[in-house]
Amino acid sequence: MNLDIVTIFPAMIEQPLAAGIIGRAIERGMLDLKVRDLRDFTTDRHRVVDDVPYGGGPGMVLKPDPIFRALDAIAADRGAPLTVIMTSPQGRRFTQAEAERLAGLEHIVLLCGRYEGFDERVRERVTEELSIGDYVLTGGELPALVVLDAVARFVPGVVGDEQSVAQDTFSRGLLNHPQYTRPAEIEVRGVRGVLEVLRVPEVLTSGNHAEIRRWRKREALSRTLERRPELLDAASLDEEEQQLLRELKGAGHERD
Ligand code: SAH
Repeated sequence: MNLDIVTIFPAMIEQPLAAGIIGRAIERGMLDLKVRDLRDFTTDRHRVVDDVPYGGGPGMVLKPDPIFRALDAIAADRGAPLTVIMTSPQGRRFTQAEAERLAGLEHIVLLCGRYEGFDERVRERVTEELSIGDYVLTGGELPALVVLDAVARFVPGVVGDEQSVAQDTFSRGLLNHPQYTRPAEIEVRGVRGVLEVLRVPEVLTSGNHAEIRRWRKREALSRTLERRPELLDAASLDEEEQQLLRELKGAGHERD
């Protein structure tokens, strides 16, 4: 998969990628990432990328012409047409489903805004506008890294165990079940300073795989019901899960 990220702070993209799974995938050539410094596409001596807004008001706006030149250079290098994603708090919400869809594309370009954002005319070349959540950040670099990270996990070979991606929270419309690892028992001081022994749920050490599977389904469902019930409307549940969900909902009513 090919990715281009256009930014005025290349180090903000490059440095976080020096460590971790995504960085390694780039090193191994599973992802071909090119970070483009927007200032390289200016034509003036001071490499100016921003200017005051027409009509007045606070802040600065990213000039459109360097961005158009950057996109031309990327198209010349990689081939057109381009999927150009503008990061913006006004965009469609980025989700796990969006990440999976984007991972199916051969090439995407991510534009990182700064200051008050982009000159509106840049939208002429933008094919999608994505927001990572309802809050405003100082720049598009963190959103671009978020999109890159979530998309890259779907690229075959990037995450060692593909099963784990398929089972992740959201992948089937449910939150993930709880996980435990060794030791089976630990003695810890709880919030009140009292020593207690914390044990792994017995079913997980039972070796009974059918029971473990059922327990995990039940936990995933009860968590989702408790924390994010709206996800259940769109979740694709098998028969066993539908039955478990009816039981969980029934148990909830009895408690009321
Ligand atoms: N004035 C703009 C916000 C600019 S924030 C407005 O009100 O819409 C500066 C840049 O940070 C944006 O251009 C965008 O690239 C990035 N950004 C900020 N918040 C974001 C979010 N929630 N999702 C994606 N990008 C965001």
